[in-house]
Amino acid sequence: MTSCAIVGGGLAGFTVHATLRHGGLATGEIAVFGDNPDPAAVWQRRAASIRQREMRSESDGHCYPTSFPGLAAREALRRRTPGPVLRSVCDRYRPSVDEFLAHVERLREHSGWDESFHRARIERIRAVPGGFELEGHGVFRHVLVAPGHPGLARPFELADDPRAVHAYEPHPYAARVAVVGAGMAAATEWRNALETGSTVASVRRREPERRPLNLPRPLFTRRGLAGFHATPPAERVEMLTRLSKPSYPPGQSWDEPLERARREGRFAVAGAPSDADQIICATGFRRGFGHDRLLARLVNEHGVDTAGRWIVLAPDSTVPALTDERRTLALAGAPAQWAFPAADTLVGMKFAAHAFLRRVSRCPTR
Ligand SMILES: Cc1cc2nc3c(=O)[nH]c(=O)nc-3n(C[C@H](O)[C@H](O)[C@H](O)COP(=O)(O)OP(=O)(O)OC[C@H]3O[C@@H](n4cnc5c(N)ncnc54)[C@H](O)[C@@H]3O)c2cc1C
Repeated sequence: MTSCAIVGGGLAGFTVHATLRHGGLATGEIAVFGDNPDPAAVWQRRAASIRQREMRSESDGHCYPTSFPGLAAREALRRRTPGPVLRSVCDRYRPSVDEFLAHVERLREHSGWDESFHRARIERIRAVPGGFELEGHGVFRHVLVAPGHPGLARPFELADDPRAVHAYEPHPYAARVAVVGAGMAAATEWRNALETGSTVASVRRREPERRPLNLPRPLFTRRGLAGFHATPPAERVEMLTRLSKPSYPPGQSWDEPLERARREGRFAVAGAPSDADQIICATGFRRGFGHDRLLARLVNEHGVDTAGRWIVLAPDSTVPALTDERRTLALAGAPAQWAFPAADTLVGMKFAAHAFLRRVSRCPTR
């Protein structure tokens, strides 16, 4: 029996693989199942669609198995300048997308990712004595599922509108653009379209919050997480729902171009897209395990505990009913929010990866 399987070959699966390798597992002891051998492919397409040039995450937003040294220290060493580290100390360091992608490429080679990778889609996970059967691919003692978001969310009323395109799909900008949404992708698209000379209508249901990271900083700390884990289920559902509201970072580089465009009559908040030539849906992803076939099946067939749209997880990101000292079923990435509210960040992926490694290492029959 191969010891570990990772279902999903995106950045979360990649981070988990690197962590297991760092923990002493050989490439042959880990099977990764995914659609694309390039772990950054899905992310890169989305980031390129909104012309993202800098990461939203900071120095610790990487896939290496240990947090330190982060991207700031590595860039400082490579460029022989303290600048990145000094900016990082004041939470002002944002690695460029190119810097991040180069790091993924280096780690891909170094970790032996391609030796563990199998191009296959897993349709069903079945608990069997001592492990889990991944339909058609064998039985594994420890399985971590990292399938990413279950598809893009599009406003129902725009489903048949030929002017509509999702922000995370490649697109140019028309002369009169309406951007639906008010989070990070929307804010990036306001700037992009204005830079190309378009007039922009921002269609939003609520005012966005302004936060440097996509969740409040305390939720990335041990203490903040302990408080989150102590929150009763109903309150936790309410909290996660609240935290999923749109936000983008504060700062002049965001505000100044909008202010200028507003004065020029090229930027306004609107109630509807009305006369726009193009409607960019910066409306993010579908939400909840129910939209993911594999997870929905796992829940239905094994009576896995859920709350609202979330799968209930132990604080270490494992599914309690299917995990004991001899086998592990864990989640990482967006579906793991019950254990780590910022699960869909590189820091959150590392949290799930380390917890999984601890489980695997403790198992008497790895
Ligand atoms: C535009 C954008 C910018 C972002 N910027 C940052 C940032 O700066 N910092 C940060 O920390 N985070 C950022 N994020 C968040 C996060 O890093 C990304 O969402 C990341 O892509 C999530 O990785 P993932 O592996 O969970 O999912 P994905 O990248 O979606 O990968 C999941 C993979 O699993 C495969 N898969 C799914 N189901 C199955 C199955 N049943 N069998 C086999 N394979 C399957 C999918 O095909 C896919 O290849 C950003 C997200 C977006 C969209």
